[in-house]
Amino acid sequence: MSDINKIGEFGLIETFADKFNHLLDKNNLGIGDDAAVIRIDDDYSFVVTTDMLVEKIHFISDKISPQELGQKSLIVNLSDIAAMGAVPVASFLSVAINKNTSLEYVQQFTEGYLLTSNEYKVPLMGGDTTKSPNELTINVCVIGKVENKRIKYRHSAQGGDIVCVTGFLGDSAAGLSLLYKDKKMQEQYAELVKAHHLPIARVDEGRFLSSFSQVHAMMDISDGIGSDLKHISKASKVSINIDTEKIPLSEKLQNYCQQTDKNPLEFAISGGEDYELLFTVDKDYFNELSFEYLNKFGRPIFPIGTVRAEGEIPEVLYFYNNKRLTASYGGFDHFKTTNK
Ligand code: ADP
Ligand code: MG
Repeated sequence: MSDINKIGEFGLIETFADKFNHLLDKNNLGIGDDAAVIRIDDDYSFVVTTDMLVEKIHFISDKISPQELGQKSLIVNLSDIAAMGAVPVASFLSVAINKNTSLEYVQQFTEGYLLTSNEYKVPLMGGDTTKSPNELTINVCVIGKVENKRIKYRHSAQGGDIVCVTGFLGDSAAGLSLLYKDKKMQEQYAELVKAHHLPIARVDEGRFLSSFSQVHAMMDISDGIGSDLKHISKASKVSINIDTEKIPLSEKLQNYCQQTDKNPLEFAISGGEDYELLFTVDKDYFNELSFEYLNKFGRPIFPIGTVRAEGEIPEVLYFYNNKRLTASYGGFDHFKTTNK
């Protein structure tokens, strides 16, 4: 096993953070959250995020249409802006195109990127275009703007908070598994495949949640809560208990799992790419927030656990109807050979 496999994606990122943090202005936030925070003045900050999609790693070009790929590559970045409570302002798109990529493919990709840009009202303001000797590689950077007092970090969860998510978990991972099943089954569970190819960036929801000071920590679910909850736990130095029976599972996911003899919780916890928001809220404010959220979006927020008192060793424990589960859940890590 190589050294990189041993430390994993997040261990590798920590080595970058350690080396560069001394250059960071104390008002800014660098590596470690969904986006970096660059203070503009006493009232506002910019937030900046970037995400790369590599063919054969993040997508298989004959399994996702170029248009959907264009949409998704922007959506996943908008999701990180949403997670900070910010409004997206501009995007930058870089593409490394290999010799097999046709003009038509690039045009359809651009159409998809434009669709999402229009939908979220974010102009493309720059980028870079180059040839690639290998796989098609796409990198998107999005800049957002947010009032300083509304920025939501991963490090602000407090003991007693209720842990919530904004929607169903596991659909995207199940959709990914369906790409390797027969056409008939893919059609039967088209909603799951769609959840994988075209997630929704919860920008309005993130803005709404950021208007409440009682919402403490927030991030988006890109690697699966099995991994993402660990980030909140570690950054906030708190422990988290998850009641797995409360994790929202769509009917489609449950039917698919019944038919294929799979555990939907595996998809929901260890899967990833749901791009729902994961946040913690003061327990005394939970009822009011739930009510107001439902009123505004016509969809509920789902409480899935609690933050235990601060000062304990940060850990995430899983329960099912109050019984501790011994299985440990991981999320997606690009380098680790085991995610447990
Ligand atoms: P997300 O899943 O929210 O996009 P990531 O897990 O990709 O977040 O990244 C976590 C943090 O690590 C972010 O702050 C990101 O900017 C930073 N990061 C990732 N790769 C690098 C790198 N090569 N150099 C510097 N920072 C990085
Ligand atoms: Mg994120």
